[in-house]
Amino acid sequence: MEMINIKINGMPFSVEKNTTILDACRSFGIKIPTLCYLRDMNEIGACRMCVCEVKGARSLVAACVYPIDREGTEIFTNTPKVQEARKTTLELILSNHDKKCLSCPRSNNCELQNLCKEYGIEDENRFAGENPVLPIDTSTAHLVRNNNKCILCRRCVAACKEQHVGVIGANDRGFDSTIGCAFDQNLSEVACVSCGQCTVVCPTGALVVKDETTKVFEAIADPEKVVIVQTAPAVRAALGEEFGMAIGTNVEGKMVAALKRLGFDKVFDTNFGADLTILEEGTEFIDRVKNGGTLPMITSCSPGWVKFCEHYYPDLLPNLSTCKSPQQMTGAIIKSYYAEKEGIDPEKIVSVSVMPCTAKKFEHKRNNEGRNGIADVDIVITTRELGEMIKRAGLDFVNLPDEDYDSALGIFTGAAVIFGATGGVMEAALRSVADILTGDDLKKIDYTEVRGTENIKYATYDVAGMEVKVAVASGLSNAAKILDDIRAGKADYQFVEIMCCPGGCVNGGGQPIQPASVRNYVDIKAERAKVLYAEDAGLPMRKSHESPIVKKLYEDYLGEPGGHKAHELLHTTYVERKIN
Ligand code: SF4
Ligand code: SF4
Ligand code: SF4
Repeated sequence: MEMINIKINGMPFSVEKNTTILDACRSFGIKIPTLCYLRDMNEIGACRMCVCEVKGARSLVAACVYPIDREGTEIFTNTPKVQEARKTTLELILSNHDKKCLSCPRSNNCELQNLCKEYGIEDENRFAGENPVLPIDTSTAHLVRNNNKCILCRRCVAACKEQHVGVIGANDRGFDSTIGCAFDQNLSEVACVSCGQCTVVCPTGALVVKDETTKVFEAIADPEKVVIVQTAPAVRAALGEEFGMAIGTNVEGKMVAALKRLGFDKVFDTNFGADLTILEEGTEFIDRVKNGGTLPMITSCSPGWVKFCEHYYPDLLPNLSTCKSPQQMTGAIIKSYYAEKEGIDPEKIVSVSVMPCTAKKFEHKRNNEGRNGIADVDIVITTRELGEMIKRAGLDFVNLPDEDYDSALGIFTGAAVIFGATGGVMEAALRSVADILTGDDLKKIDYTEVRGTENIKYATYDVAGMEVKVAVASGLSNAAKILDDIRAGKADYQFVEIMCCPGGCVNGGGQPIQPASVRNYVDIKAERAKVLYAEDAGLPMRKSHESPIVKKLYEDYLGEPGGHKAHELLHTTYVERKIN
């Protein structure tokens, strides 16, 4: 490693040669503003917010892409010239921006708004732009695209490409340039997989999740309705960030307390459905191995991944497990077993789920996700939307006392909790499959080889004398590599876990938005995943088949895992979808 001596704002520092100005400054505690830059994803030096002076350079340079390659380089990050340039950049952006901060969903968490405040923008109309009124795309179930608030930073384009989807890009050129789908189609008309990764990187209110909180408040206020909520494992690992708590704080108890204070009649845990999923999926896997079914079997609990497979790899749909996701399984049991047991008319139940995922908003409306016209889940809100509901209700979230889930469908094992991180479903499945096949209560339950945020993980296990090869991928570009291998006949593994979002659900498109200044330097997905693995390690039951409520459900109602009734309620079908 070659080190060189430089000066930043007159102070001497030593840096590795070719470090960018942005990274060098960051490591010495000097913040440089950015709008387009996303580490390893969108390093295009386009927005010009990060400009700095370098002694001897003819013009200001973009710090995010300028490598420091000369001994003695002198950099100035905060001169009046630099400040004026950044301010002018902001004013030019504002000249064509729909400046309605008061009604904007991203107000108070908008990188553009924050920079305008930081740089003391006094006249937001200093430059007059054309301000054309562009159509707002509300065509999908999961998000709203409002190009009137777009600053053309292209982060969303990079995120969508990173997901191996690439359905959004720049249309037209120069002043007419807009971000959208080919031929200005709506997002619902193209093969968007609903992952929402574009919404978490967008610095402004141009891409936001479709807000369904009003529907939830209305349901709660309706005395005729029984409103039951379930929360996915990854939500507890991130919701605190909406209230300024540190990344990686487990807020399970406070979240349950908040949901009860919001007025939900019952608060259940999607972890129940995750344990149930393992019983069904594990049984399906054993059956496929023993009876010559399609292998490798691929997990099906990530709806963005399922939609990706339907659009881009429909020939591999037979490899998908037929199990519904934990959200849908929990919803199905709420409206059947639980409703019958409690004597509640399922038509009166409003089943709400809180998810880290925007694709769940699509999933619950799919065909075959309910029975006799009764949907398994009625309304899906994201972690961010729950944060908004709690704020609107005036709850002091940070100081709420911890409360427990309602026990009917609120008891869970550690195996269920780790569903929220990449590798978690595989580990949970292996814990149960190994016990079921050996008939033992095995002590080895930590399958550490499939943990961690690496893109793709492979491992081989001896399960009851049988060699089981597994693969785990998160993020759809990584999934595509595995799928291409399967297609080419090069895959020798029997079981595959795929999660749509990089790092798994902890990094889902509905999770709290951290600005790029944090995302670029903190491994958010790893910090949130730690919450789940810590909870798993501390729980008395860590295997899904140990769950007493799941056992009772089979004894009293479903019969055998994989049996007729279980299939009717807990399994689904897939369709081939077009690519535009
Ligand atoms: S995107 Fe940001 S700057 Fe624009 S209206 Fe919304 S909050 Fe205000
Ligand atoms: S939701 Fe996902 S697939 Fe759809 S446009 Fe955004 S990043 Fe692309
Ligand atoms: S939609 Fe958001 S992320 Fe995409 S270019 Fe516009 S401002 Fe940037």
